[in-house]
Amino acid sequence: MEPPGNCQACRRVATESMLRYHRGADVVHHESLLQCDICERFACAECLKVYDIISGYDFLCHECARELGAPGPPNGGH
Ligand SMILES: [Zn+2]
Ligand SMILES: [Zn+2]
Repeated sequence: MEPPGNCQACRRVATESMLRYHRGADVVHHESLLQCDICERFACAECLKVYDIISGYDFLCHECARELGAPGPPNGGH
């Protein structure tokens, strides 16, 4: 099964600059879109967060990360 060529969350076409994922202070380079460990959608770096704080789940999209209560960027939301 080949990963799609565009992000399944924001529908943008994957480009090299979108394939750098942050894992803590490190940057993870990947040749293709990465898959959310929970909902299994492929997502670009914009939509996919790389967390190492939750055992067993390394790659989570924003939605799943929020549901798990993972700390995201301070967004000033409400
Ligand atoms: Zn995206
Ligand atoms: Zn997800």
